Amino acid sequence: MAKRGNYHVDIDLEWCKRCGICYAVCPTSTIKRGEMDAPIVEDHTTCIGCMMCENLCPDFAIDIKVVERVG
Ligand code: SF4
Ligand code: SF4
Repeated sequence: MAKRGNYHVDIDLEWCKRCGICYAVCPTSTIKRGEMDAPIVEDHTTCIGCMMCENLCPDFAIDIKVVERVG
């Protein structure tokens, strides 16, 4: 999937129940498994905006924000 912009991966850890779906499905490993199974994002620039994490999170804890569109 081509990258069409730059994104910011916003994760609300107050809503997140640490199910692990987001870092299991993320095709670019932008979301990683952190301490106590909490999702962490160290580098937002690798996100391709596929929205799988946002769509599959059972707690609606993820919001992919478009920082800048490319092309
Ligand atoms: S999919 Fe949602 S609830 Fe599950 S670990 Fe990721 S952010 Fe948390
Ligand atoms: S939108 Fe896609 S690439 Fe970006 S963090 Fe979510 S699953 Fe990973």
